[in-house]
This record gives sequence, structure tokens and C-alpha cells, in this order.
Amino acid sequence: MKNIVIFGAPGSGKGTQSDKIIAEFGVEHISTGDVLRSEIKAGTDLGKTAAMYINDGKLVPDSLIIDMLAATLDNLGKDIKGVIFDGFPRTIAQAEALDTMLAECGTKVDTVVGLEVDDDELIKRIVERGKTSGRADDNAETAKKRLDTYYGQTLPLKEFYIKQDKYAKINGVGSIDEIYANISAAIKAC
Ligand code: AMP
Repeated sequence: MKNIVIFGAPGSGKGTQSDKIIAEFGVEHISTGDVLRSEIKAGTDLGKTAAMYINDGKLVPDSLIIDMLAATLDNLGKDIKGVIFDGFPRTIAQAEALDTMLAECGTKVDTVVGLEVDDDELIKRIVERGKTSGRADDNAETAKKRLDTYYGQTLPLKEFYIKQDKYAKINGVGSIDEIYANISAAIKAC
């Protein structure tokens, strides 16, 4: 069982690279952003609450996200090769909750793939993605708020995982295949 966290700012390429990791390693994909967007589409209470935070570039409160993640993990069942966590954890509280949930299943986070991309490139990518994604939060104004949220609440996790010797730093600028070659090597090495 291999559990991978793909970590990085909005626009760093987590979703794109997750698809390649799934194709090579056969792990299950949990993207909390995707789960929230399907809740919004379905018009659930969680979706209605989440939309207010998402559209303002803020994080959805930990308690809601952790419960949602626990339910999503439960639904995967036991007979799996591992999970790639995409967009989760985003706070220290979420990382601690993830460690507890995985420990209860006798497993752990094996490696954290950290995609590092400079801010100008991130904003450029998000605005470009907004032309086709249909996402209300893929525009320059919300992107800047999302980056502030990332630096304030999510980046501290890098240190959290470096201390556990789990952080694999990956240059997130270059061709998709070049970036993926380094990710694949880091996963194989863990
Ligand atoms: P993403 O698709 O990962 O960029 O997520 C889009 C938005 O969903 C984020 O900007 C947050 O508002 C919300 N979101 C996704 N994952 C989380 C999380 N783990 N914790 C809190 N909010 C989240």
C-alpha cells in the first residue's frame, strides 16, 4: 500500500500529475476540490456552505473537510493499492487527522510530492485554466486570495513533512513529462 500526498499551491499541477501517478501506480484518487465541486453541483448542504468559502478563495472549515474525507476513504474499501491525496491536507489539523485515520487502518503517508512553482507562473496558469474549466475560482482576483490562503495556512505543512523526512521537492516548471519523471522517481524511492 502506497499513500501519496501531492502538495503545492493552486495551479502547481497537482491534478495533471495525479492522473499520471494513478496511471503508473494504480492508486485511488481523492481530490477534496473535486468532491466539493460535486457536492456543489448536487446542491447539498455541504456544497452550499463550501461554495461560499471556495468562491472567496478561502479554505472550507477543517471539521467539514475531515468528515468528508473520512467518508470518502471509507467508500474506497480495503482492497486497494494505495491513495493519492490531492488538495488534502491543507492545514496542520487536517494532516494530523489524516495520520490518525490512516493509522486506524494500519497504514500511513509514505511520501509527499511537493510541486514548487513561482507565483507569477501560478496566476498565469490559473487564469489560463479559467478559460475552459468553468470554475468560479479560476480568475486572477480569486487566484491571488487562494495564494494568500496557501501561504498562510497550507505552506506550514511543508515543514511538518520535512521534519518527518517525507517531503520530496519537485520543480513544478517544465514539460509535464519532465516533471512527472522526477515525481515517479521520488515515489519509487519511498
Ligand atoms: P482545489 O480544486 O484543490 O484547488 O480546491 C478548490 C477549493 O476547494 C479550495 O480553494 C478550497 O476553497 C476548497 N478546498 C479543497 N480542498 C480543501 C481542503 N483540504 N481544505 C479546505 N478547503 C479545501
